[in-house]
Amino acid sequence: MNQQPGTSGLIFNEPLLWDKSRDGRCAMSLPKSDVEREPLDENLTGDSPNLPQLSELDVVRHYTRLSQWNFGVDSGMYPLGSCTMKYNPKTNEVQAARQGFASAHPLSGDEFSQGALKLMYNLEQYLAEITGFEAVTLQPAAGAHGELAGMLMIHAYFAKNGKQRSKILIPDTAHGTNPASAALCGYESINIKSGKNGILEPSVVEAIMDEDTAGIMLTNPNTLGLFETDIKEIALIVHSKGGLVYGDGANMNAIMGIVKPGDIGIDVLHLNLHKTFSTPHGGGGPGSGPVAVGKTLEPFLPIPRIVKELDTYKLVTDFPDTMGRIHTFYGHFGIMVRAYAYILSMGAKGLTDASKLAVLNANYVKESLKGTLNLPYDLPCMHECVFNDEFQKEYHITTMDMAKRLLDFGFHPPTVYFPLVVDGAFMVEPTETESKEDIDQFIDAVKAIAREAAEDPEKLRKAPLLTKVTRLDEVAAARKPCLRG
Ligand SMILES: *Cc1c(COP(=O)(O)O)cnc(C)c1O
Repeated sequence: MNQQPGTSGLIFNEPLLWDKSRDGRCAMSLPKSDVEREPLDENLTGDSPNLPQLSELDVVRHYTRLSQWNFGVDSGMYPLGSCTMKYNPKTNEVQAARQGFASAHPLSGDEFSQGALKLMYNLEQYLAEITGFEAVTLQPAAGAHGELAGMLMIHAYFAKNGKQRSKILIPDTAHGTNPASAALCGYESINIKSGKNGILEPSVVEAIMDEDTAGIMLTNPNTLGLFETDIKEIALIVHSKGGLVYGDGANMNAIMGIVKPGDIGIDVLHLNLHKTFSTPHGGGGPGSGPVAVGKTLEPFLPIPRIVKELDTYKLVTDFPDTMGRIHTFYGHFGIMVRAYAYILSMGAKGLTDASKLAVLNANYVKESLKGTLNLPYDLPCMHECVFNDEFQKEYHITTMDMAKRLLDFGFHPPTVYFPLVVDGAFMVEPTETESKEDIDQFIDAVKAIAREAAEDPEKLRKAPLLTKVTRLDEVAAARKPCLRG
């Protein structure tokens, strides 16, 4: 930590509350006690707890300052590829905070939860419509959790049909969570290579798909930001051997209203409400990773399921082939309210436009920067584009150096060193909510950094230079975390 009292303009360093504590300071005025002081319990004779003593203003300033150290989509562009860091409209928060929603309790019973159940039921219908599937569960708490739920359904399907299979095909352009989800279900993942242009080739799938393989798990658009153009043919090959197709739909932001995954041979797909449907990503949770399924897998959906009978909604557990439970109660309700508000406020046309703009913005970045950074796969991209540091190698400047320097220009860096198929990847996903001016500013920053790579590489290797902490020892940070500050 920089020991200067102020590091950049009005931003102060912030000691711990305990360091700021002064005996006798207090943030509230309590009336004088009119009873004798008594210990709570005779056994409580140890030291009183070490709580900091601070004024109200000390506390307000401490937390306000800390909040100003944060960076989020509300403070600037956050082009983290694969993560869809789009703006989260404030109306979502207003709706989720309505008393009826905010104080709903999962143990109130169906009779007293009709509004909440109706909202979840309708949200499932909307997501089924958007993706082109029969049915949806909202229960999984994240994308990876949705993958696990989907793979457990595939597992339950083969168990029911009498013969479990042992393998699953996973292309090198799939998300890293895919093999992990498959492994948790006991499947061995077989890595398959995508073709020269970053797209999976049906002949490769044909050569390896057999009757001991449960199916394929692929990400579409894939992690290179490219649409898998041969997906229908690949699905036919997998189905002809009795396998199923898992579609990772975390990148649905590129294709909403344009392609329905259920129409192109996919059997099960998860979505990320905290990406495509504008709910907060929230420090590792709570998120929501709904799973949509076609007719084949519907009987295996997790329980409970929301069932509508006349005008009444019920949570029903009586589904004999279910894969079981995947979450307590019915998942993260507050997140569902936000996504529902988003879908209603956007409407069908708004969602389609969002995807078109997300794709347009990414292609604009790709075209604007392709002479500045190397672009290994020069095809029209979907919602994100992947560069690398090939052009900067002659100056011994890496993707990491450029990402760190972006912090000095006021931008959260893009995703780096992912996907693994691109060495030194620099993966930009601007999303549809960035204006042209903000995207141009980002492009200018990357160009300025590329110039620095040639002119002052020494400086770039030390970046960031203007942040409160400069280049961190990331290995030590991971291996020997100092949790005290
Ligand atoms: C983000 C992402 C996931 C994982 O989602 P989490 O909510 O982070 O668990 C899976 N697949 C793809 C393609 C993703 O982009």
